[in-house]
Amino acid sequence: MDEDMNESKDKSGKSVQREKLIILGAGPAGLAAALYAARGECNPLVLTGTELGGQASLTNMIENYPGFPEGVGGVELATLMQKHAEHFGARVEMDTATSVNLAQRPFEVKTYDKTYLAECLIIATGASPVHLNVPGEKEYTGQGVSYCATCDGWFFRNKKVIVVGGGDSALEEAIFLTRFVSEVTLVHRRDSFRAGAILQSRLEANKKIKVRFDTVLNEIVGENGVKKVIVSNVKTGEKAEIETDGVFIFIGKKPNTELFEKQLELDERGYIKVDDKMQTSVDGVYAAGEVSDPIFRQVVTSAGMGAAAAMQAAKHLGD
Ligand code: NAP
Repeated sequence: MDEDMNESKDKSGKSVQREKLIILGAGPAGLAAALYAARGECNPLVLTGTELGGQASLTNMIENYPGFPEGVGGVELATLMQKHAEHFGARVEMDTATSVNLAQRPFEVKTYDKTYLAECLIIATGASPVHLNVPGEKEYTGQGVSYCATCDGWFFRNKKVIVVGGGDSALEEAIFLTRFVSEVTLVHRRDSFRAGAILQSRLEANKKIKVRFDTVLNEIVGENGVKKVIVSNVKTGEKAEIETDGVFIFIGKKPNTELFEKQLELDERGYIKVDDKMQTSVDGVYAAGEVSDPIFRQVVTSAGMGAAAAMQAAKHLGD
């Protein structure tokens, strides 16, 4: 392809680049889409956003991705997926889409310093952690409040931490944190876990973890960092204070769909609606992975959706 024919300047001097296929997001869905699209001769460009590797890269060990019986590190898997896609010609750019216009053809994707025009789009922007929205949470984020054990666990060596949540993420991360910390108190709002049986057994066997069921976290209190949390029992109403050095929150994810509001059909929880061919409500725009999957949300299902979206995109571009 002639580079000059595909790049020009707009009136403000900003660079305008024409592409066949742009993939937004570089998690398992985006990178699997890139691999399939590259092999399908679509010359895909991946814009990574801020998180290369997506949520998978924030996970210490992925034990349920087929082909890795001993497990594989999240960063390692993301790196391998990127290499694999690049090996077949996909281009991966560390750039973040700041706006999209899906009403025009070709579609417009703007980043901070560039405008892209794309014949076809695959949205794989993933999901972000849900916040508790309690006093102290925002104030102490990065100073004791965290949403990523792999990133921040090390800072809590021999300290006490609270983990909030009762799903796979909360249990998995609580167990992981025991490598560093002296004690984890797991706070869950119900009297049973949503997490799978294997994680529940591992949690039970871990002497460093205490569980407080039927408990909600009301406030995070600190001074130059987290010092304690105030919790209450949902059945008795009884309040308690727990001294702690950190709070890790794993209470689910919300899809990253802000850029597409009013342009694509979303469901009531904000997930992009797709049909069984990953097609969104706009012809030529596909979505894959957690941004359009409120149900399965696994690395393997996201990768599968990415591959399917790319196969459809290749068909669309060939029509
Ligand atoms: P999740 O399954 O949606 O669990 C969220 C947990 O947070 C639930 O226990 C929920 O309580 C609790 N919660 C939600 N809102 C809350 C609030 N405002 N205050 C207090 N607690 C709240 O989310 P996840 O654990 O992040 O998992 C997301 C997906 O990834 C799931 O499909 C999961 O299976 C998958 N995943 C899989 C693995 C694995 O296979 N190893 C690892 C991590 C994640 P309730 O139970 O009362 O609703």
